[in-house]
Amino acid sequence: MRRALAGVGASKGLALGRARVRHPHVLTLSEETIAAEAVDSELHKLDAAMQAARDELGGLRNKLQGALAQEIGEFLDLHVLILDDPELRAGLRDLIQIGRYSADYALKLQRDRLASVFRAMDNDYFRTRLDDLDHVIGRVHAALHRRDDDGQLGLAGEILIADDIAPAELAELSRQQLLAVVTRTGSPLSHSAIIARGLHLPMVVGCSDALSHVNDGDALLVDGREGLLIVEPHADDLAHYRATQAKIEKKRAQLERLKRAPTRTQDGVDIGLYANAERREEIAEALAAGCDGVGLYRTEFLFMGRPDVPDEDEQFRAYRDAVLGMAGKPVTLRTLDLGADKADSSGLALRNEPNPALGLRGVRLSLSRPMLLDAQLRAMLRASAFGPVRVLVPMVTAREEIEAVKARLLALAARLRDDGVPIGEHVAFGVMVEVPAAALTLADYVDLVDFAAVGTNDLVQYLLAADRTHEALDGLYCERHPAVLRLLHLVFAQAREAGLPIHVCGELAASARDVPLLLALGLRDFSVHPGAVLEVREAIRAASLGRLKRRVSALLKCRERAGVDRWLARVNAG
Ligand code: PEP
Ligand code: MG
Repeated sequence: MRRALAGVGASKGLALGRARVRHPHVLTLSEETIAAEAVDSELHKLDAAMQAARDELGGLRNKLQGALAQEIGEFLDLHVLILDDPELRAGLRDLIQIGRYSADYALKLQRDRLASVFRAMDNDYFRTRLDDLDHVIGRVHAALHRRDDDGQLGLAGEILIADDIAPAELAELSRQQLLAVVTRTGSPLSHSAIIARGLHLPMVVGCSDALSHVNDGDALLVDGREGLLIVEPHADDLAHYRATQAKIEKKRAQLERLKRAPTRTQDGVDIGLYANAERREEIAEALAAGCDGVGLYRTEFLFMGRPDVPDEDEQFRAYRDAVLGMAGKPVTLRTLDLGADKADSSGLALRNEPNPALGLRGVRLSLSRPMLLDAQLRAMLRASAFGPVRVLVPMVTAREEIEAVKARLLALAARLRDDGVPIGEHVAFGVMVEVPAAALTLADYVDLVDFAAVGTNDLVQYLLAADRTHEALDGLYCERHPAVLRLLHLVFAQAREAGLPIHVCGELAASARDVPLLLALGLRDFSVHPGAVLEVREAIRAASLGRLKRRVSALLKCRERAGVDRWLARVNAG
């Protein structure tokens, strides 16, 4: 039977294919018992899962090299100790043998039992051990449910329906010719959604009914622009699908003609247009679209979806390839922007935190792991021998942080030169403006930086106290909130006054409809994912800067989002 399920469009494009449903692994919450004759096989399953978890930890440990081995190795050792703890193992065996509980439910009971012991200890050290216990239990649980064919799911020609999806997994699945992804949770600002757009993979997020209403093998139609999932589509839907596909193709052919056109407004002002790009294909696409360079290379993608940590040489090769790929145009390499929210998918062994977005993230994490930061900065400096490199630091809130990273960068550059290692003559140094504190005080640290990049994805979340990944906050997280516009206006004014180059690399810059808004507020450089470059160029070429400047005071007086929408509608109507 046909059903239309609504979600939020996260990566545009249409797809027609069969469903592959992946239900999440959750610790069994309801009591689950087993028959007496199943006890042996349940114990066997548990032993195999614990062994697999131990092997994974050992594998991670072996891959660590140099200074990192010490920094991260101690977490892994602790996890092995927990896994081998006789009390944990005996408790689990008893629960299965005597209590006749499933291995799944025994894991939950034993976790809760140990957690209450830890909690009762009046000591912070033991309370933080709770995170480690959860990491270990989670690892055994995942191993318990791993199917033999996991990791090699043939998803060619299929549409994945899942609770959520990690960024690195998405990249892997798209290589297997996955057609589209629909998730129950998530938001268009999540890193997975950003990757999906880079991969041109249609994606719908926040589709709350997807898991309960779709079965393996159902025919599906996904509309990534409208945020729509149609299960068992009718002939009308298919006709509509074909007509829309044809329109998309026509528009694509029109945009192709803009590849060599200048990014110039109607009144003759040249605007900078850069790309957010990391993967080889994205870099090639950015160059082919005539971008001015890479405005954002997110290095965290090198660290995610793997159990180990890339060393300096591996990073150097990746950065050098990007620099060579841009053929002399500048590449902006951002230092690691990871936090506890993505801890599980990297080899960094980060601690769980109650508020990862407000915790040890971005530059804070880098400064707390100086060896990790130094390896990254050295790799970037070495890549600068092959073309212009700009080093960008995320999540700064204070002048002291900028000074600390800059001092390390300068010292490392001096050391490399002394050692005869080739590096570029000048490596530009800049910071992300993505925390309100950094936005309000830009004028106070312009002397320390060569450029700045505005991360609207985070700036909006921190300014409006609305989680960028929270599916239920879609209306509250709003880039056109008057507070956002006024703050951006202030940021661009401070940069202009100081003569500081500044670009926006948050997703707002990639929204062709919002181009007049950003130009009116004073932006002159955009950085967008490669798939949006031509649309944004088209919108810039249609704009008249003089006319927009005359209308900015009306924009800044808007008191609500509807007023901003009306302003945009008037401007877009001419
Ligand atoms: C941003 O916050 O706008 C940004 C570009 O960085 P990220 O999306 O990687 O947090
Ligand atoms: Mg950010």
